[in-house]
Amino acid sequence: MRTEYDAIVVGSGPNGLAAAITIARKGYSVLVLEGKDSLGGGLRSAELTLPGYLHDVCATIFGLAKSSPFFKELPLKDHSVEWITPPAALAHPLEDGRAVIVERSLEATAEALGEDNQAYRNLLSLYIDHWDEIVKDLFKPLPLPPKHPWLLARFGKAGLMSAEKLVRKHFTEQRAKALFGGMAAHSMLSLGTALTSAFGIILNSSAHANGWPILKGGAQKLVNALTDILRLNKGEFVTGSMVTSLNDLPPAKAILLDVTPHQLLKIAGEQLPGRYRKQLQSYRYGPGVFKLDLALEGPIPWKDENCLRCATVHVGGSFAEIAAAEKEVNEGKHPDKPFVILAQASLFDATRAPAGKQTVWAYCHVPNGSTVDMTERIERQIERFAPGFRDQIIARHTFTTLDMERYNPNYIGGDINGGVQDIWQQFTRPTFRWVPYSTPLKGIYLCSSSTPPGGGVHGMCGYHAARTVLRRELKD
Ligand SMILES: Cc1cc2nc3c(=O)[nH]c(=O)nc-3n(C[C@H](O)[C@H](O)[C@H](O)COP(=O)(O)OP(=O)(O)OC[C@H]3O[C@@H](n4cnc5c(N)ncnc54)[C@H](O)[C@@H]3O)c2cc1C
Repeated sequence: MRTEYDAIVVGSGPNGLAAAITIARKGYSVLVLEGKDSLGGGLRSAELTLPGYLHDVCATIFGLAKSSPFFKELPLKDHSVEWITPPAALAHPLEDGRAVIVERSLEATAEALGEDNQAYRNLLSLYIDHWDEIVKDLFKPLPLPPKHPWLLARFGKAGLMSAEKLVRKHFTEQRAKALFGGMAAHSMLSLGTALTSAFGIILNSSAHANGWPILKGGAQKLVNALTDILRLNKGEFVTGSMVTSLNDLPPAKAILLDVTPHQLLKIAGEQLPGRYRKQLQSYRYGPGVFKLDLALEGPIPWKDENCLRCATVHVGGSFAEIAAAEKEVNEGKHPDKPFVILAQASLFDATRAPAGKQTVWAYCHVPNGSTVDMTERIERQIERFAPGFRDQIIARHTFTTLDMERYNPNYIGGDINGGVQDIWQQFTRPTFRWVPYSTPLKGIYLCSSSTPPGGGVHGMCGYHAARTVLRRELKD
C-alpha cells in the first residue's frame, strides 16, 4: 500500500465505489476505507434466515441502476453482472382480488385501467419516450444547466405537485390512483406533500422504460463487479476501518466521504466553520424502515396469480389507505395497516433459495428511530391479498430502524434515503451551496445519497462528486 493518495474515499456504498472508480479510471491513486468487514453498503447479500437462502440485505430492485449514466459507462457484463428483467415490473393487488400490473408496455398497462386509460398514457408517455434524456437531467445537481429544458419544465409542472393533487386532477378510478400512490410513497413523505408526484412519475416511468430488473445472484454481484473494476484500475481497499476523524487518514489531495451530514459532523466537527456546522446540524432525516426477510416453502399464494410475474409488489390497498399510512408515519405514528414494499426476487433467480423454496423481503415505513416490531402488521397486510401466505413461512429475520443503523451507520434512525427528500432538502442537499458536494474544508467532499440526486442505487452522487474533485483538486 502507498503512504499517500490522490484521493481517499470513506465508505463503500454504491456512491463511494462510483466516486472511487470515476477517479481511478483517470489514472489517479485511490484508497477506499470501509468501516464494516465487507464492502458494498446498501448493496450486500447474505444468508439472513437459513443456510442456502440468500437475501439482499438492502437494495434488490435496480430500476434506477439500470438507467444510471454512470453504470452504463461500465463493462459490468464482463464482470458477471447479469440483469434479470421479470415479465412485468410491479404488481399492486387490490381488495377486489385483482392486481394492477405494470407491464413493460404502457398501452397494455393503461388498457387495464378502465376510464383512466388515456390519462395514464398522457401522464407518462413523454417521459418514457425520452427516458434516457430526462434521466441525464434529473440525475444532475441543480446548478448544472439541463440539456433538455422543455422536457424538464414539463416534468417540473407535474412533479412539483403532491400525489394527492395529481391523482385528483388526472384519475377517476381507484386502480390508477392506487398504483400512483404506491409509487409516490417511495418518497417516504406524506402524499399530500409537494414533490411526491415526482417520485411517482419517475418510478412509474422507469418501470415501463427498463422493467425494474434484479441481479442474478443478488445485489452483492454488483459490488463484486465494482470492486473488480476498481482493482483493475489499481484502486486499493481496506475494510473494518471505521473513520472517526479526518486526522486519522493518510495524506491525500482529496477526501470523499460516503456519509451523511450528521456523520460528517462527528468526523470533522471541530474543523468545520460554525455556520456550516449549524447547517449540517439542521439537516433533517426522514422516517425509517422496518424490514422483514422471509424464507418460504414456496411462492406467495397471491389471490391474483399475475402478481407472480413481478419481482416487486406494493401491498397497501387503495390510494386512501396508502396515503393514511404514510401520513401517520410522518406524524410519528405506527400505522395499523402499513404500506408494504415487497420483493420476491427468487421467483426469477433460482440461485437465491434451495429448489422450490423462496426468499422474500418486505419493509414498511416507520417513524425515525422506531423500535416497534412491525412483523405482525406486515404479515397481516400480505395475508389480505394472499390468504395462506403465513403457512409458507419457514424462517424470519427482522431489522428495526436501530438494527438498520447498526448494520449501516448511514441509515440514521433507519432513514434509507440519507435524509428527507422534500421540496426544500431535495434541492439543497446537504446544504445550500453552489457546489453541493464541496465543504468549506479544502479537499473534503461529501459523495453519499445526502447529496444530489439523492437516494437509490444509481451511483450518480459519487460520480458527480468525483467529477468535481477531478476538476477542482486534481486539475484533470
Ligand atoms: C431495506 C432497503 C431496501 C432498499 N431497496 C432499494 C432498492 O430496491 N433499490 C434501490 O435503488 N435502492 C434501495 N435502497 C436504498 C439504497 O440501498 C441506498 O440509497 C444506497 O445504498 C445509498 O448508497 P450510498 O453509497 O450513498 O450509501 P450506503 O450504501 O449507505 O453506503 C455507505 C457506506 O459507508 C460506510 N461508512 C459509513 N460511515 C463510515 C465511516 N465513518 N468510516 C468508514 N465507512 C463508513 C458504511 O458502512 C457503508 O458501507 C434500499 C435500502 C434499504 C435499507
